[in-house]
Amino acid sequence: MSEKKSKGQQLQKALAYKKKNYYETADKAEKKAIFDYAKGYMAFLDAAKTEREACDFAVKAAQEKGFTEYKFGEKLAAGDKKYFVNRGKSVVVFRVGTKNLEEDGIRIIASHIDAPRIDIKQNPLYEDSGMAFLKTHYYGGIKKYQWTAIPLALHGVIVKKDGEKLNVRIGENAKDPVFYINDLLPHLGQEQMSGHANKIIDGEQLNVLVGGMPFDDEDVSEKIKLNVLAILNKEYGVTEEDFLSAELSAVPAYGARDVGFDRALIGAYGHDDRVCAYPALTAVLDNETEHTVLAMLVDKEEIGSEGTTGIQCKVYEDLMEEISVAMGANFRKVRFASKCLSSDVTAAYDPNFAGVYEKMNSAILSCGTAMCKFTGARGKSGSNDANAEFVGEVRKMFAEEGVVWQTAELGKVDAGGGGTVAKFIANLNIDTVDLGVPVISMHSPWEVVSKADLYSNYKAFLAFMK
Ligand code: MN
Ligand code: MN
Repeated sequence: MSEKKSKGQQLQKALAYKKKNYYETADKAEKKAIFDYAKGYMAFLDAAKTEREACDFAVKAAQEKGFTEYKFGEKLAAGDKKYFVNRGKSVVVFRVGTKNLEEDGIRIIASHIDAPRIDIKQNPLYEDSGMAFLKTHYYGGIKKYQWTAIPLALHGVIVKKDGEKLNVRIGENAKDPVFYINDLLPHLGQEQMSGHANKIIDGEQLNVLVGGMPFDDEDVSEKIKLNVLAILNKEYGVTEEDFLSAELSAVPAYGARDVGFDRALIGAYGHDDRVCAYPALTAVLDNETEHTVLAMLVDKEEIGSEGTTGIQCKVYEDLMEEISVAMGANFRKVRFASKCLSSDVTAAYDPNFAGVYEKMNSAILSCGTAMCKFTGARGKSGSNDANAEFVGEVRKMFAEEGVVWQTAELGKVDAGGGGTVAKFIANLNIDTVDLGVPVISMHSPWEVVSKADLYSNYKAFLAFMK
């Protein structure tokens, strides 16, 4: 084939836009960096399956990098490296820069560390027909039928009568028992399988199997339940009443694994949104910058960002105001000058379900982190629709640092939709755009992402901080 390009080929190269597969453009060293970075991320996934565990992981990582805990009212100076913990379920790590805060603002990367799962109810334990179960109430948007017939682990806390807090994490060690949600055998599933997918498994059928051995005493009833209680009391010192003030979740008991012969992809529970939280965290922990930068790892995104640990809570605005005041800056001016990458996952185009996507504007796997100018449903409803000016500014940052990235929209028009925390930050008068990793099988118990997109997301944050 001739080396010389025709005039049309040259013109096409100069004028037309085409997405690039990151693996295809990466040289040997870059490919190694992609794979090395994924290892740290996968260790994070296994250590942090709930927001509490992700928060603890972030605090420990921050401390190892010389960050110290920030308390409201504290004095700050350029060069300070701080973390702020909100109720053990959300954490903000930040660096105070040398640039004038009123002119340069704060560079914010906002991600969330909660993920869809099965929460245990407050009065959960019962027995029926040779089995003991825990009643549950699912958290976030799930396809309920996907959570049956898989090994589950229990994570969370139990606050005992005397106020003592017990951390629970059972089912992650090979020696631990796991838990389980029953499904119906196909032989008897004729009626079940002909129903609406939402009704294949009902919310009240998501009961977690936790025991099957009766307590050895003829004089008591509910022997299997009693035996479970006896074990819990012996091992953890809890009684049935302690469930009233517990926060326990059933999550998939398996860990993160490479997917594919070429190991290009990662399968794991809870990529949404740890695949953005981890790059946000490591970008701020590992890299110096003259800007004031802030990585937010928040809770409750999957149920509307409500509550004291969701991003709608005043505490995050208060924190930014505290930083501004400590640096002698006018907070209103700081907000006006601030910029935010709202970092959450988007749907990767899946050829197996091509009908719900519009391919030209979908995120293609391994083509880099995906920018969604807008999210929302129907006519962009509920979306922060970022300004072209801000999109242009971010695009320029990425180009200067050689970030492989793409734009995306979650599905085709009117196929459904979704939202992120972007609008809540934009409401503070801060320019915000969504940027995150494309995910296959989002909100399922085991989601898939590309290692290239993970690393591209990290590189995008570095460009944003530069
Ligand atoms: Mn998310
Ligand atoms: Mn989600």
